[in-house]
Amino acid sequence: MGMNRSYDVVVIGGGHAGCEAAAAAARLGARTALLTQSLTGIGEMSCNPAIGGVGKGHLVREIDALDGLMGRIADAAGIQFKVLNRSKGAAVHGLRAQADRALYRAAMQAALREIAGLDLIEGEAAGIECAEGRVIGVKTAEGDYFATGSVVITTGTFLRGMMHLGPQQTQGGRHGAKASIALAESLAQHDFVLGRLKTGTPPRLDGKTIDWTGLAVQKGDALPEPFSFLTKVITQVQVNCHLTATQPATHDIIRRHLHLSPMRTGAIGGVGPRYCPSIEDKVTRFADRNNHQVFLEPEGLEDPTIYPNGISTSLPLDVQEAFIATIPGLEHAKILRPGYAIEYDYIDPRGLKGSLETRKVKGLFLAGQINGTTGYEEAAAQGLVAGLNAGLAAGQSAAFLPRRDDSYLGVMIDDLMTRGVSEPYRMFTARSEFRLWLRPDNADTRLTAKGLALGCVSAARAVAFADKAAALADGQALLERHSLTSAEAMKAGLRVTQDGVRRTAAGLLAFPDISWGDLARIWPDFNAIAPEYAQILQTQARYAVYLDRQVAEIAALHRDASYKLAESIDYRGIKGLSNEIAGRLDLVRPRDMAQAARLEGMTPTALTLLSSLARRELVDARRGA
Ligand code: FAD
Repeated sequence: MGMNRSYDVVVIGGGHAGCEAAAAAARLGARTALLTQSLTGIGEMSCNPAIGGVGKGHLVREIDALDGLMGRIADAAGIQFKVLNRSKGAAVHGLRAQADRALYRAAMQAALREIAGLDLIEGEAAGIECAEGRVIGVKTAEGDYFATGSVVITTGTFLRGMMHLGPQQTQGGRHGAKASIALAESLAQHDFVLGRLKTGTPPRLDGKTIDWTGLAVQKGDALPEPFSFLTKVITQVQVNCHLTATQPATHDIIRRHLHLSPMRTGAIGGVGPRYCPSIEDKVTRFADRNNHQVFLEPEGLEDPTIYPNGISTSLPLDVQEAFIATIPGLEHAKILRPGYAIEYDYIDPRGLKGSLETRKVKGLFLAGQINGTTGYEEAAAQGLVAGLNAGLAAGQSAAFLPRRDDSYLGVMIDDLMTRGVSEPYRMFTARSEFRLWLRPDNADTRLTAKGLALGCVSAARAVAFADKAAALADGQALLERHSLTSAEAMKAGLRVTQDGVRRTAAGLLAFPDISWGDLARIWPDFNAIAPEYAQILQTQARYAVYLDRQVAEIAALHRDASYKLAESIDYRGIKGLSNEIAGRLDLVRPRDMAQAARLEGMTPTALTLLSSLARRELVDARRGA
């Protein structure tokens, strides 16, 4: 007889989305089960051993601001930290860390085990049980049954996963793991719109067989910047990476064997990630380039495995061996595990609500790669939101709906549900119209208070947040209290326009040549502010004028968002709407005019038709009030 238990929330999958989802639901007090195929595989990094990057690092900070795990775990397991885009403005700084794969897994598993009210259960979900349009339980291939009103599915690349290595095809969710077939079939019964996507990974190399002499050394930052607002200092041993590059001979071999690459022959139907292309794609798309960079990244402190970042491939093993041997330093490198491509089902995210609950089945939430995204951080960020909402739903509380103007979480979810995906979705800062405001340094200012209101933030973080807010308020008060005329500023050695104007210290700090340190030389009380807070205040001062403009844009967005569109509108019955637009509106069911305006292919005529419906809604709401 199998297990028969009851939970508030069941999370299926122990990848990046599943870990955050389970932790978030349990933080809210929901009795939660994390059901995954292998307990030792929890927190596995299926591809590159790194967390963060531009846009992705922003997501990690936002996860952390809501007391999620990824930032803290990456801080514990990071073996090389580097802020990308450091020379550019703070809004586009990309926090990134190479991680020790084994340490990451171990730290994640330990963190989950510490969470009260969370059970980790090994098993394969084989189907969801529903009654009257809502989820009532999950059954497993092992014969267990979990009764529950909230399920979060986070099965990544596992739904009907098919791995390709040259002409060889093997069913599987990733190397060494079974595909999810029964669960995919159970979901298909609920009429979800499924699509096919693909991704790939490079071969792993034995570092002991690489000739490191002569390869360029890539150092991390001398002072590693942690992801988590709670991490004071990184204590992990730090290592170097190395850089090499493909050669014309490499490209020759790849070109001669393109007919054996399932990525190129049409053997794989799905669309791949544009920003993580295979080496086959790069050689074809950028035919005039003689070299492509290959970063040699260690997978761990105790592990000789090297991840050659930049040469993801699905060519047959003998071709991989041949082209690897043409790359400087890799002439005698032994392949420990071949690269491969994987093709998998995703579910059209236009069928989701802003809470990541499906519109078709009440109580069923989807998060991570299953929604058509790519990347650990994108998955974790969705897991957090879905887990919180599953927990809130279990407690009959209103949903947490991140917005485009408060977070990249909001940007990503709105993009997914409004526009869907035609290729794996990855986060970039360019996706946000409010990117000067959505910075990594102020993720806590934007989100932690919301997390406190939801009840998902620990007491320790609440104290740290309050201390920081008080320190920033002290600093801001100093900036407002002190002032200089332009002549006084010049006398003090500050370069400002000589216009006779008196400027507050905040106004002075907005000048690119004036730093907090300059102000501290004039007014010693500025020294009382810790350097990390001074840095944030300086960024705020520099961006102040642009931020004022964004505040006006955010207000305009709110105005449009106040024009609601009822969930029940019969779009196909509206005269004057094209079939195509009516079909999209029917699928996405935008909640307001702001979201409707962002739909692909939306026209001014269609918006005018909708706005009269939205106005009617407003009048009805006022009458009802
Ligand atoms: P995953 O991390 O895949 O986790 C899925 C979890 O669900 C696993 O724990 C699994 O055991 C569990 N599971 C599945 N089915 C069931 C079931 N029926 N019952 C119980 N548990 C189940 N991303 C990039 O950004 N760049 C890349 O270049 C890249 N390359 C990749 C190459 C490969 C070969 C693969 C496999 C992935 C690649 N990715 C890449 C994607 C990256 O791994 C994912 O974006 C990320 O791991 C998604 O997280 P997730 O939580 O959605 O799913």
